[in-house]
Amino acid sequence: MKLRIREGVAMTFCALSPPAAGGMTVCDGRVPGRFTAVVPMPLDRSVVFLRINMMEAVRTESRYRFIPFASLLFLAALTGCPPQSGPAGPIAYVSPQELASKLGLRIADSSSAHLTLTNGIDNVTIFPGLTGRIYINGKPYGTPNKAISQNGQVYTMAPAIEMIRLELRRLADSRTGGKPPPPAPRPPRSGRCNATIVVDAGHGGTDPGTRSVTGTAEKTIVFDIATRLAASLSPRCGRVIMTRTTDRKIDLEERAAIAERTRCDLFVSIHADWAERRSASGATLYISRNSSNTSYAIARSIHAALVRNGIESNGIQRAGFIVLKNHSRPAVLVETGFASNWSDARKLDSAAFRAKIAEAIADGIVEYFAK
Ligand SMILES: [Zn+2]
Repeated sequence: MKLRIREGVAMTFCALSPPAAGGMTVCDGRVPGRFTAVVPMPLDRSVVFLRINMMEAVRTESRYRFIPFASLLFLAALTGCPPQSGPAGPIAYVSPQELASKLGLRIADSSSAHLTLTNGIDNVTIFPGLTGRIYINGKPYGTPNKAISQNGQVYTMAPAIEMIRLELRRLADSRTGGKPPPPAPRPPRSGRCNATIVVDAGHGGTDPGTRSVTGTAEKTIVFDIATRLAASLSPRCGRVIMTRTTDRKIDLEERAAIAERTRCDLFVSIHADWAERRSASGATLYISRNSSNTSYAIARSIHAALVRNGIESNGIQRAGFIVLKNHSRPAVLVETGFASNWSDARKLDSAAFRAKIAEAIADGIVEYFAK
């Protein structure tokens, strides 16, 4: 028969001892597909297997027949037997370790049958052989036969690296809407806010506010958050005043009067929400129906800080609360979460969450006034 080896052909020779002599499996034990010719030949006490990718490598007029012994020896001499570092042949292949390093991934699973690489978000799985393909997150990419199995590992064609890299970049871009990833949360500005802030802990004393599904009184939750908020603002702002520093009842009109009397730059009132719809969750910012642009801008700054700190925020609403409308000062009421929602209620019961939301509100306020 006539045998023409096309340029760019990968061939693998493996000299193996015959099964009778306690032999080994064919190369790595994998002979992929019906298009691969495996030609055992007696050679001394070993057997030479020739594995040729028939579709890629060899063309004959009609079909394959036995390859003459002399050709085999010639080919064996040409390519070496067995290959030690990566498959022989003009196509460059990379080992799992090299591939992982080039793509910045780590090896999650490696065998002669497949190779899986991951970055924790995207998974690349490569199956060797003529029908084997490259899968990214379970979806096939490119044409089959981009890898071969050898020495118990999957070796991938070097030209496939760029395709995988581009696909991973496209996937990463699609997750961020084609924009660069959002910047890491900024540390709070150390710049002073030369402002007078009134921190209003809602309810108190004989007015417990609502009671959360876990049984905690709103006055207790909001007093803790308000105290933390004032503590965070104090070193950074000009003057910080709390409407109550103990568990006592203060009328809403009196709270509004404190805002007016102190000529404060911001009156921030801390509450916890309640809704019949138990699925309602997250913080909500309220400003007066006729509020100034200042109140709105401060609420926006607080909302941004909540979101940046991973706290669910429903954004800004307008309402006719007395503490927002019965004075002339900029004012924002923060509903810190829904006491009627199990997940929120448990968060509000946690000192870590109360500290976190207090810090986020403080950051939002300071960022506004430090401008
Ligand atoms: Zn309340």
